[in-house]
Amino acid sequence: MRSCGMTAFDTLPLKPALLASVQTLGYDAMTPIQAQSLPPMLEGRDVIAQAQTGSGKTAAFGLSLLQSLNVDTIRLQALVLCPTRELADQVSKAIRKLAANIPNVKLLTLCGGMPLGPQLASLTHDPHIVVGTPGRVQEHLKRGSLHGGGIKVLVLDEADRMLDMGFSEAIDDIVGRIAKHHQTLLFSATYPDAIRDVSRRVQRNPIEITVESPAQTKPAIEQQFIEVEPAHKLDALAQLLTGERGQHALVFCNMRRDVDAVADELDRRGFSALALHGDMEQRDRDEVLVQFANRSCAVLVATDVAARGLDITALPLVISYDVAHDPDTHTHRIGRTGRAGQAGLAITLCTPRERPKAQNIEEVLARPLPWHPLKLSAPRGKMLNLAPMKTLIIDAGRQDKLRPGDILGALTGDAGLKADDVGKIDVFATRAYVAVSRSLANRALERLRAGKIKGRNLRIRTLG
Ligand code: AMP
Repeated sequence: MRSCGMTAFDTLPLKPALLASVQTLGYDAMTPIQAQSLPPMLEGRDVIAQAQTGSGKTAAFGLSLLQSLNVDTIRLQALVLCPTRELADQVSKAIRKLAANIPNVKLLTLCGGMPLGPQLASLTHDPHIVVGTPGRVQEHLKRGSLHGGGIKVLVLDEADRMLDMGFSEAIDDIVGRIAKHHQTLLFSATYPDAIRDVSRRVQRNPIEITVESPAQTKPAIEQQFIEVEPAHKLDALAQLLTGERGQHALVFCNMRRDVDAVADELDRRGFSALALHGDMEQRDRDEVLVQFANRSCAVLVATDVAARGLDITALPLVISYDVAHDPDTHTHRIGRTGRAGQAGLAITLCTPRERPKAQNIEEVLARPLPWHPLKLSAPRGKMLNLAPMKTLIIDAGRQDKLRPGDILGALTGDAGLKADDVGKIDVFATRAYVAVSRSLANRALERLRAGKIKGRNLRIRTLG
């Protein structure tokens, strides 16, 4: 049996507009999770699927909900619940791309941590699709600013994380407030009992999908466990981060206060390192994520919850500064590396006291942990491990009709940079970020300040 023909998207009963999007996006073949979940989802069945970030799950449920959407009916028809705002933004973007060839699809992202007023203003007409976090969606349904009576598809994305974050009651309440007959698609990286309970409560006779061989979806991840004394943890970390792989690495700490301490210490030692945890203001979180994604920050130190929804693929290196408290969390961490066909390295530092936690992981892996010795080299004083880019922040954004092209134009025109020296450009509602080659950042800043963007003098500064 030829498998390639089996996994072409055009074997599915999808609208031509959706097949066209899939083609534009360059998806030649379905990923395993798509090949297994799309046929039953398109038949209207409830599905519970074990799928990690990177498996193509978003396109799977995105295509399915768009297939059943009727644009002429001005009602909310599909609701996607996500654990974090970052993930909701990412899912919204992916669905918009898939919907690019269907005119007039209205999609709204509704997340907590953002003011309610503008959300209420944009809800004068029900959108077709809402992507959001459970608390905020629940609030809108309660207030009556959102109407669930026409919902045909409910998606629970990263359901395990939503439960971890305490959204279980909100989800149940939401289910009680939307149309009784709807399809429920549940995606979760892990299947603890709590997920099975949710499935039993909210799904009808679901088809269960697990992708047989994770090797098919995931390229090789090399794991290493390194035993270190607590006093040498930071030295070990700094040594592991030195060199090519440390140019874009994610470091996990179990505790928030360690996140700050480790990021500060790395910064002191000459790394472009930033901290990310749940206590931070939304704007600070945004800025950290922007800088990590655009390569102005080489090392991101984060808690597990904060790192969820991070829209970064193919990190070459992930380090657990502490052994994760449970094997599921460990699996999530190492899943951050080795995406998109690139091999990744996942290193876990383990102090003698953390051995029992490592043994739990060993039991779940059902094979001996790959222990590696690390010879600590003598401290070499401060070394420079700076990220290749630096971020400029511009105090204008979408509301000012500022577009990425305007910024690129100003930098390559008046400021005299080559297009190669300009990196990722992120335009938010009221501000914009652009990465430029670190060595040219000051020059770019001076020139931009001297010139104009879109005929205006805008406030510009460097970040970090
Ligand atoms: P996800 O697991 O939804 O986060 O998707 C991971 C990445 O895979 C995204 O960047 C998608 O654009 C990409 N992707 C999804 N489906 C396919 C496909 N069939 N072929 C190639 N790439 C895909």
